[in-house]
Amino acid sequence: MKGYAGKILRVDLTSGRVRTEPVDAALARDYIGGRGFAARIIFDEVKDADPLGPDNKLVLAAGPLSGVFLPAGAKATFAAKSPATGIYGDANIGGHLAAEMKYAGYDAIVFEGAAPEPVYLYIDDAEVDLRPADYLWGQGTVTAEQSLKAQLGDEFQIAAIGPAGENRVYFACIGHDIGRQAGRTGVGAVMGSKKLKAIAIRGTGSVEVADLEAVRRIGREMILKLNGDPGLQVWHDYGLTSVATWSNSIGALPTRNYQSGYFESAEGIGHAAMKERIFLSTKACFGCPMACGKFTEVKERGIRVEGPEYETIALIGSNCGFDRIEDVAYLNQVCDELGLDTISAGNAIAFAIECYQNGVISAGDTGGLELRFGDADAFASLAGLIARREGIGDVLANGVRHAATVFGGGTARYAIQVKGLEWSGYEARGAPAMMLAYATCDIGASHNRAWAITHDIAAGRDLLEGKAEKVIELQHIRPLFDLLGACRLQWVEMGLDLKYYADIYPAVTGVDASWDDLLTCSERVFNLTRLYAQRELPGFGRSFDYPPARFMEEPVPTGETKGKLVTREQIDWLLDRFYELRGWDRDGHPKPETLRRLRLP
Ligand code: SF4
Repeated sequence: MKGYAGKILRVDLTSGRVRTEPVDAALARDYIGGRGFAARIIFDEVKDADPLGPDNKLVLAAGPLSGVFLPAGAKATFAAKSPATGIYGDANIGGHLAAEMKYAGYDAIVFEGAAPEPVYLYIDDAEVDLRPADYLWGQGTVTAEQSLKAQLGDEFQIAAIGPAGENRVYFACIGHDIGRQAGRTGVGAVMGSKKLKAIAIRGTGSVEVADLEAVRRIGREMILKLNGDPGLQVWHDYGLTSVATWSNSIGALPTRNYQSGYFESAEGIGHAAMKERIFLSTKACFGCPMACGKFTEVKERGIRVEGPEYETIALIGSNCGFDRIEDVAYLNQVCDELGLDTISAGNAIAFAIECYQNGVISAGDTGGLELRFGDADAFASLAGLIARREGIGDVLANGVRHAATVFGGGTARYAIQVKGLEWSGYEARGAPAMMLAYATCDIGASHNRAWAITHDIAAGRDLLEGKAEKVIELQHIRPLFDLLGACRLQWVEMGLDLKYYADIYPAVTGVDASWDDLLTCSERVFNLTRLYAQRELPGFGRSFDYPPARFMEEPVPTGETKGKLVTREQIDWLLDRFYELRGWDRDGHPKPETLRRLRLP
């Protein structure tokens, strides 16, 4: 099979046994790779499992474009049954892990069972070994990565969890490449529950492609196109920090626990502040000319970090009331080292602050910690409590949906989440398509599947017609990149033509598939994860597809979207249309004919 390493590595952490199995050609044809492989493995093999028990599985999967020299075959997916949501969860990761795994000879690694003592997985091509990791346990993600690199050599690519993963925090991430994270849905907690501290991979092989000349030609065209675009300089200078001031200008920057989409001090946490005050250097994932990563330094705190990028600026910055980029970068570093997803951590801490401000919780509940927006030391202390599951941190560590049930007193209104996953970086009361995208995303409130906010602005913010169509279109295109193992930002941000990807897939794999065929694979995966939710969560359906009450009932108080909200009636109209177009029934369950069309069980 061209484009694939051809093997899946199975690691039984309970017994310590490892084995390989060939990649099934039908699996590759119908699910492509990456998130597609991961979703099918979880669907087939994880049934009725406790997400943090040994029956859950953690999958790391690359795609056929991972490790191929095109901009940018850099992506892999971590997936598991999520402790945050109880349904399928995944998180995408860049850096060099996907390419290295393919070069070592594996398209995916499936971790099963749980080790009795902390271990890390050592892979040096065909040499695969579970090694003791007691000495790494307790270390932060970056520290553990540096420890393993010092021990094994710089050519090993490392992924590691921090204390949050060890302590099974529901929004623990997996860190890699000193600042890249598989952040969402608690994949780090699943890794910690298996006592798997880290993965170290060195691969010296390559990816065999079907038509090398065609791959060279198309890859070269893509790179020349990107390098010739004057817009590339923005990415070299600012990366994703450039999104923050734009987001604020359109009323979408989450502010003080999503009370508004306008932050009056956005300039202080924007791209210019980053560049002028803390920028150190630029950093890229494997094969990427965009190089959106920015290393920064906060001298007053004595720290260096990759970031903050947009989502961190939005959730830790404006959403927690910080108006200095130095504070955001510092807290980014704190969360990275603890192994906390900055999106959910910022969301959960903003939730706690609003609860505190409204008198639902007090200093007596927080161990004396006074919570207020814009207090960096209080944020860092609370993040530590969460990662260690100490005091009130133990409640917040299970996410805002859970914390609201513990705190009571109407705090569900402050819990900005869908399906148990904390909402990410776009306040969407002035953007019905974006609201629908969040509400129907298969892993919970993530922008990852469909970033539809630019469509809302272009088509008309108050318009509902056509929005469900756009969301579905994006829900097939964007996740397709996760199946292929490629970064989507070259298309999303630089406008690189989708035709390149349509052309390069057959050139790499030798599979004669059209772009529509590939989109059908993406649609198949979207429906499969929906089926998984129905099977694993009794009663799962329409009621899980609503945004938080705040967004349907409280008009935005300030900024460009002042006065806007998306009412429950409007959401119902959008959901009806969305389900109809998808071939789902009124409760959001795929109809039998839809399953037959997509060849799903
Ligand atoms: Fe990585 Fe950014 Fe390039 Fe995507 S655009 S591959 S995230 S450096």
